[in-house]
Amino acid sequence: MVKETKLYDALGVSPTATDAELKKAYKTGALKWHPDKNAHNPAAEEKFKEISHAYEILSDAQKRQIYDQYGEAGLEGGAGGGGMAAEDLFAQFFGSTGFGGGLGGMFGGGMGGASRGPPKARTIHHTHKVSLEDIYRGKISKLALQRSVICPKCEGRGGKEGAVRRCPGCDGHGMKTMMRQMGPMIQRFQTVCPDCNGEGEIIKEKDRCKSCNGKKTIVDRKVLHVHVDRGVRSGTKVEFRGEGDQAPGVQAGDVVFEIEQKPHPRFTRKEDDLLYRAEIELVTALAGGTIYIEHLDERWLSVEILPGEAIAPDAVKMLRGQGMPSPRHHDFGNMYIQFAVKFPEKNWTEDPAAFEGLRNILPAPTFQNIPPPDAMTDSVELEDLDHQGQARAFGGGAGGMEEDDEDGHPHAERVQCASQ
Ligand SMILES: [Zn+2]
Ligand SMILES: [Zn+2]
Repeated sequence: MVKETKLYDALGVSPTATDAELKKAYKTGALKWHPDKNAHNPAAEEKFKEISHAYEILSDAQKRQIYDQYGEAGLEGGAGGGGMAAEDLFAQFFGSTGFGGGLGGMFGGGMGGASRGPPKARTIHHTHKVSLEDIYRGKISKLALQRSVICPKCEGRGGKEGAVRRCPGCDGHGMKTMMRQMGPMIQRFQTVCPDCNGEGEIIKEKDRCKSCNGKKTIVDRKVLHVHVDRGVRSGTKVEFRGEGDQAPGVQAGDVVFEIEQKPHPRFTRKEDDLLYRAEIELVTALAGGTIYIEHLDERWLSVEILPGEAIAPDAVKMLRGQGMPSPRHHDFGNMYIQFAVKFPEKNWTEDPAAFEGLRNILPAPTFQNIPPPDAMTDSVELEDLDHQGQARAFGGGAGGMEEDDEDGHPHAERVQCASQ
């Protein structure tokens, strides 16, 4: 259930109306109540503003959801605040349906001071996927774009100079009021002029511009240089104002590239830091050794694990300054290494002296859960499980960096806490 229906009522639709139904209701209402068509009816302007406001909110899925849930109060100052002027919405709406030229002519001039500059062509949005390597080093991507530009041959007229005539059928408005008899009633309704297809003008076949075929625009290929700054964050938008589509009578549209970082096989990025998971052998964890990490700029890092470092499974260490470049601070984030310690295979040696040696070398066990002397003790045997069995018992494998327990303790530590 929606909280209130005022905006739906303004458009004369039900709260379950589809986007198409909303659009249709707005279109009909906006054309009917537009102030230019109702010069002597001040109530019409109010009505025009009301339906424009309703449509602006209901046509935006996010705003509509807020409205349905909380009513107009939910939109105050937030998503509903600073709304678009009714005329701008009108221009945007009709500009985008393709018969902008005709309606521009219809309502051009004398808009009673509400005009806020010419309408603008749609913005071209594009996601630019970039590798982590390219973000580390920074680069300039050359991206080709297809857009409409004003035909240079006819300068956007669509034909020879003087050959373009105002459509007599609609007097250049692109829209026409028609009458239709429905039983005893005569209904008046607005329709796109069939003579000019809403263009508002007519060009004779032979006078039509050969370059654009009378369409006034041609498709053009434009190469834009997108700067991928060192260390740029995923989601950053790079804007090119006025480099998008052109059309007669409207401002050229913008082009917006959104930078999206592709996933990386070795590193996970967390803002300016890099997370890396290194697998080392148990012997390296205990006795030391060197591991190598391939960085993002063709360098390899040589990381010394000192003897006695005793790296526990899932231990995290840091390499200072080896993260991503930080564009704001002119320095680098850090690289965090989480260690996976690989134990030897079962029965890795049969030599009893080896175990005796280990027992002599490694520290003696410090914690053991020994039952009281009078406890009844059953001697039981350990069995191996297959992978499915392990998954059943513990619901998934041992974690990676993101899979620590909710309390943030790695597994090894939890076992220790529990047995103290
Ligand atoms: Zn016409
Ligand atoms: Zn042309």
